[in-house]
Amino acid sequence: MSTTENDCEILDRSPVIRLRTENGLNFLLKSYKIQRNGQVSEHALLYKSPFMRTGLPVLTRINSACFTSDIFGCVRCDCNWQLREAMRMIHDKSGLLIYHFNQEGRGIGFTDKLKSISLMDISGKSSADAFRELGHCADERDYRLSAVILKDLKIDQIDLITNNIDKASQLMSYGIHVNHILPLISPEERHSQYLASKSLIPATFPPPPLPRKNCYRGR
Ligand SMILES: [Zn+2]
Repeated sequence: MSTTENDCEILDRSPVIRLRTENGLNFLLKSYKIQRNGQVSEHALLYKSPFMRTGLPVLTRINSACFTSDIFGCVRCDCNWQLREAMRMIHDKSGLLIYHFNQEGRGIGFTDKLKSISLMDISGKSSADAFRELGHCADERDYRLSAVILKDLKIDQIDLITNNIDKASQLMSYGIHVNHILPLISPEERHSQYLASKSLIPATFPPPPLPRKNCYRGR
């Protein structure tokens, strides 16, 4: 059954299946198929039941795909570490994780992500400069569909696991109240250089709105 909210339409939802991980964690898993502006994308919802507690924020991780790290185990970034750590947290606290397959490479897609890595390796460019050379913003991810899924689950307030303040700001702008932010900082030495290149969350929240909409390419 489809559900429409403004420019977004939920076309389909899978049945819930049980998922047991190699390290013994037990989750429930379902998928969403959503159409936005004519583009259809799929998203996974991984959760530990029951995550609904009346009147309390739900511990939530919004996770964008990083195939190089999540699938192939590349240690260039800390994405796989963050995903595993967030899974452990939502398992322990009965939270949920939304995995966006369509936001690879901070939203620029897999091919352009590999082009950006090549530019960084060959010419020593920063990721922001490499993205710019390819005609992209430093981060093109959009969390509108995260909000659509949360609202479909009747969740309007969350404790958000993230190092990305823009994610929290966007969710707030889409009507999801972010009660607390829980950072995920890898203690592993191999990630230190990567983390140094990223801006981590400021000490206060909520922050002023970010001027990112001007460079958003309208996916
Ligand atoms: Zn990554």
